[in-house]
Amino acid sequence: MATAVAPRIFKNFINGEWLESRSGKAYENRNPANTDELIGMFVSSTEEDVNAAVDAAGEAYKTWRLVPAPKRAEILFRAAELLVQRKEEFSKDMTREMGKVLAETRGDVQEAIDMTYYMAGEGRRLFGQTTPSELPNKFAMSVRQSIGVCGMITPWNFPMAIPSWKMMPALVCGNTVVLKPAEDTPLSAYHLVQVLTEAGVPRGVVNLVSGDGPNAGAPLSQHKDVPVISFTGSTSVGRIIAQACAPDFKHYSLEMGGKNIIIVMEDANLDLAVDGAIWGGFGTTGQRCTAASRIALHKSVYKEFVERFVARAKSLRVGDGLDSSTEMGPCINEQQLKTVMSYVEIGKNEGAKLLTGGNRLDSGAYAKGWFHEPTVFGDCSPRMRIAQEEIFGPVVSLIPVDTLERAIDVANGVAYGHPEREPRVPSYARSLHRNRLCERANDRRGDAPALRRDETNRQWTPRSGDCGN
Ligand code: NAD
Repeated sequence: MATAVAPRIFKNFINGEWLESRSGKAYENRNPANTDELIGMFVSSTEEDVNAAVDAAGEAYKTWRLVPAPKRAEILFRAAELLVQRKEEFSKDMTREMGKVLAETRGDVQEAIDMTYYMAGEGRRLFGQTTPSELPNKFAMSVRQSIGVCGMITPWNFPMAIPSWKMMPALVCGNTVVLKPAEDTPLSAYHLVQVLTEAGVPRGVVNLVSGDGPNAGAPLSQHKDVPVISFTGSTSVGRIIAQACAPDFKHYSLEMGGKNIIIVMEDANLDLAVDGAIWGGFGTTGQRCTAASRIALHKSVYKEFVERFVARAKSLRVGDGLDSSTEMGPCINEQQLKTVMSYVEIGKNEGAKLLTGGNRLDSGAYAKGWFHEPTVFGDCSPRMRIAQEEIFGPVVSLIPVDTLERAIDVANGVAYGHPEREPRVPSYARSLHRNRLCERANDRRGDAPALRRDETNRQWTPRSGDCGN
């Protein structure tokens, strides 16, 4: 007779203890590639849980800030070592809860490892500055000081990297932390907190509350005893966070959405351009703030690029990220899949040319997941909604352009673009040339080119040879 095994319940971490939520409620975390697989139950936190976590962090701050920075750093160093030991296990768990392919989740855990080692090094480098004073007998200096309890609210697309970017710098500087991870990826945050605890972070210094935005994130961002909020997520929620922080003049940092572009000009190396565009558009199933969901293509290369790019998009292997042959995983959840499907309809209605994809994948191996085909729209006008709005899925819009200036205009002509378009042109152009130059300098097959400052067109150019790549 089969015996039902109760799912594991993952709890909050408050004041050094794993605790149920005061709400008594928990929610399911399921694998987006196979929703039959329950990753675990995670508690649904409320304001009461957040208050308890902030109280614990406030109490712990009194002593943690006095621990010498090199000693705080030693704990982080141990945490980095533990992350290295468990990298494979954490990467697999991340693929199971988030869907991105194993090579990418290994990269995500690696980013947490790198950040933790880096901040461990910073424990011996928290230098201030001295400044000569214009007054006699005055000594002017700055000293770095901690601020207090830091509230951290993170998204699901980089489930361990982003929490580590926020937590490790705060901790090494002597602050304490309350982390509210995204509801779709709490397990990776759980692992990170577990590792910090095992490494020796004292009670109350790091606290974790799982749950949704309105019930757990909002009370954290509004809490009077939290002087700093670090948020990564959508622009709409970022706006809510900024409003919540304003009345108390809290410090806040917001990393939000984007609508990035790749510009492919007439002199581009199309092998590199297609590779970059495939990764930019479909890596992490397009669910990245840095996803390149628009490509501006010079008309002279448009046809060839489209043929090659569409062929590559068609051949991408979609599937479970744990399968080593998979190149693109599922969308994170049903809602995100529906958003992608609705943008495909919007693109068709706007008159964009559907070149490949456009459908949900829901039969056979895809039947239990939130899969969508890699999708490419051609002949897009820059004003179309699919070329303007962040879709956060595997949908790329191709936009033909005549000149670099026009491409830069298109790049900036979105809500996320730079408003002063004209003055930006020369600096963009310069950076394009610098990039080409760096590529040349890094190309071990050729001699590194010498630099020449061309004052006429204000570009750095190689002294000899072309910079066509
Ligand atoms: P989201 O804004 O829906 O959620 C982010 C976090 O905010 C989650 O933890 C969520 O629970 C919380 N939240 C939601 N409502 C809240 C509220 N009212 N008060 C407080 N917290 C609240 O974003 P997401 O869907 O998790 O992530 C995708 C978005 O994140 C995309 O827009 C993407 O571009 C952006 N992102 C940006 C960067 C960057 O570095 N700029 C990096 C990764 C993701």
